[in-house]
Amino acid sequence: MSDIQFQSIADLLALAEEAGCGIGEITLAYEIQESGFTRDVILNAMLARWTIMQEAMEAGLRSPITGLGNLVSGNGHRMGAYTPRLLDPILAQTAARAMSVNECSAAMGRIVAAPTAGSSGILPSSLWGASQKLGSTPEEIVIAMFASAGLGMVMANNSTISGAKGGCMAEVGVSTGMAAGAICELAGGSPHQVVHAMALAVKNSLGLVCDPVGGYVEVPCVKRNSLYTIMAITAAELALAGIESYIPPDEVIAAMKEIGEAMPTAYKETSCGGLAITPTGRKVMETKPRTLGAP
Ligand code: SF4
Repeated sequence: MSDIQFQSIADLLALAEEAGCGIGEITLAYEIQESGFTRDVILNAMLARWTIMQEAMEAGLRSPITGLGNLVSGNGHRMGAYTPRLLDPILAQTAARAMSVNECSAAMGRIVAAPTAGSSGILPSSLWGASQKLGSTPEEIVIAMFASAGLGMVMANNSTISGAKGGCMAEVGVSTGMAAGAICELAGGSPHQVVHAMALAVKNSLGLVCDPVGGYVEVPCVKRNSLYTIMAITAAELALAGIESYIPPDEVIAAMKEIGEAMPTAYKETSCGGLAITPTGRKVMETKPRTLGAP
């Protein structure tokens, strides 16, 4: 492949269809082209990130993790030890792992931002859950991670991945789209299905506000990662079944940008609206507010 460039999801899809490969391979080829590193070096670098993701998923299952603000504690551990009554056991463990990663992040532990720390649980746990079902190899997971990276890059360039600019749909929404596309590819979905998995997930995150209680990335963030992971898996499954987003992927991203720009600042990580100013949220703010520069 020569001179790989893509500004939109349509570009990415056209490149994949023309080359007869997945979105992951196109993004990997782009990375090789832009960085000048060999395929092996780049694959190993992504594999190292998968290792960090796995460590973060396991950390909260091994022992309870408490966030810096003490607003969340041990939910990953609790869910990991629980025998589900409604969910498929792998899905329940997937939900546990999403919270484990986010608790790790809330405790200033080591995670991979995907695309941000606040949304860091969705991609790893989705990949873990899908790979358990599919029996995927680490190599296949790494290629799926490149698919998520390509989709995330377009969303970052054409909208935003900052909660402070676009609300939580820019963090958790984008992450859910990245994860849905990645696991759709991991499950053998066509590039067309992959981009529609992304669109279905992002479309159903539109308008999601960022209202962290006390300014800590804990409430609602940790549990939200768990719940949106299940949405990512469902979006991938819908796309694999042949269900498409009525609104094309690039138009969904444009809508996300437009909604983010129109969203009041109270819902953009300022902790001046929503859950952050409920009576309980205000109490947290009075007793242990997180100030800029705090550890
Ligand atoms: S609510 Fe705000 S801080 Fe929490 S995950 Fe969403 S964007 Fe990040």
